[in-house]
Amino acid sequence: MISYGRQWIDEEDIKAVVEVLKSDFITQGPKVKEFEEKLAKYCGAKYCVVFNSGTSALLGAYFACGISEGDEVITTPITFVATTNMLLVLGARPVFADVEEDTGNIDPNSIEDLITEKTKAIVPVHYGGHPVDLEVIRSIANRYELKVIEDACHALGAKYKGSKIGSCKYSDATVFSFHPVKHITTGEGGAVLTNDEEIYKKLLLFRNHGINRDKFVNKSEGPWYYEVQMVGFNFRLTDIQASLGISQLRKLDRFINKRRYIASFYAENLKSNPFFYIPEEKNYAFHSYHLYPIRLKDSVVRWKREIVKSLLNKGVGVQVHYIPVYRHPFYRELGYNNVNCPKAEDFYKRVFTLPIHPSLKEEELNFILEALHRVFEELEV
Ligand SMILES: *Cc1c(COP(=O)(O)O)cnc(C)c1O
Repeated sequence: MISYGRQWIDEEDIKAVVEVLKSDFITQGPKVKEFEEKLAKYCGAKYCVVFNSGTSALLGAYFACGISEGDEVITTPITFVATTNMLLVLGARPVFADVEEDTGNIDPNSIEDLITEKTKAIVPVHYGGHPVDLEVIRSIANRYELKVIEDACHALGAKYKGSKIGSCKYSDATVFSFHPVKHITTGEGGAVLTNDEEIYKKLLLFRNHGINRDKFVNKSEGPWYYEVQMVGFNFRLTDIQASLGISQLRKLDRFINKRRYIASFYAENLKSNPFFYIPEEKNYAFHSYHLYPIRLKDSVVRWKREIVKSLLNKGVGVQVHYIPVYRHPFYRELGYNNVNCPKAEDFYKRVFTLPIHPSLKEEELNFILEALHRVFEELEV
C-alpha cells in the first residue's frame, strides 16, 4: 500500500539521534533549546517552545493565550479533532464556522456572525498546507479584541503573502506537529511559536509542572529553591527527539520542494480530468502540501465510497480528511446536532486525499495515476 503520508529518515538523522543517546543528556539537555532556536529562526518568530506532541502544544497555546472555562472559540470543522478537543479540556466551547468550498479552509466571511460576548479567540487551521487568509482574520480579531491561534500542524514551510507560517505576523501563537506524516518528524512532537513574551513564559511553565526556577513570588530559601506558580504538566520533548528535529529541519526546504514537485506532477496530469477538482494556490498562498485533497464533481460524487474502496484495493492509500468534527458521537452528545455548515458538509461529501510525501518515487506516482484512471474508467459514467 502506498501510504498517504510518511516520514523520510536518512543516515544523517540516525547519526544525530545516536550521538545524543551516547551523550550525558537524553532529556532536558542542550538539544531542545537548539531545536527551538532553529525553528524560531526558520519561521521568523521571536520565541519557540517545543512540546511532546502537536496536541499538547495546542493545549499549551490555548492555555497561554488565556482561554478558559466558558469561553467560546471560533474554528473550523474540517480539521483533526485535537484542534477542538483541547478547547474542551479547558472548558471552552468550540464554535464551528463554515469553510471555503475550494480550499476547505475556514471562510473568513462566516466568522463575524458567530462572535458573541463570550468569544475569546479564532483558531484557523491551514488545511492541507494551504494558508488561510490571515490578514482578514486578524482584522476581524482586532475589531473584537480576540486572540488568533493558528493550528499550523499542516503548514510548516508554507507562506502567507511572503511571510512564513509560524512568523506570527498575524497571530498571537502558531502551533506545529512533528508526527511522522507531517513535514518534519520527531516521532511525536510539537511546537508553539509566538512573538509575545508573556505567552512564551506561560508556555515554559505549562510544559514543566508550572515550576519556575528563576523568578519567585516568595523569597528564595536556598540553592534548592523553586516555585510552582500555575498548573502544569510534563509535556517536554526529549533531547533524543530534538536532535532528530534539528537534523530534519535541515532538510525541510528539500521536503517542501519535493511535495510541491509531486503536486505539480498531479496537476499536470489531472488538471483536465472531468471527474474531480484539484487543489490550487490562491494568490496570497505558498502551499506546503501536507495533503493533496481532490473533490469529486457532481457527476461522480455519489460513488465516493466505491472510488475510495477501489483505490485502496489497488494499493493506493487514499484517505478522507476530515469527517467534520461536530459529526462525531462525543460532539453530538455535547449538543452539536444542529451545526449549520453546509459547505463543510459538501466538502466532506466530495473530498479524499491522494498520497503525497517526500519518499514517493516516480514509479509510485505513475502507479497512482494509472489506478485513478482505471477506477474512473470502471465507473462507466
Ligand atoms: C496532526 C495534527 C494535530 C495534532 O498533532 P499531534 O502531533 O498528532 O498531536 C492537530 N491539528 C491538526 C490539524 C493536525 O493535523
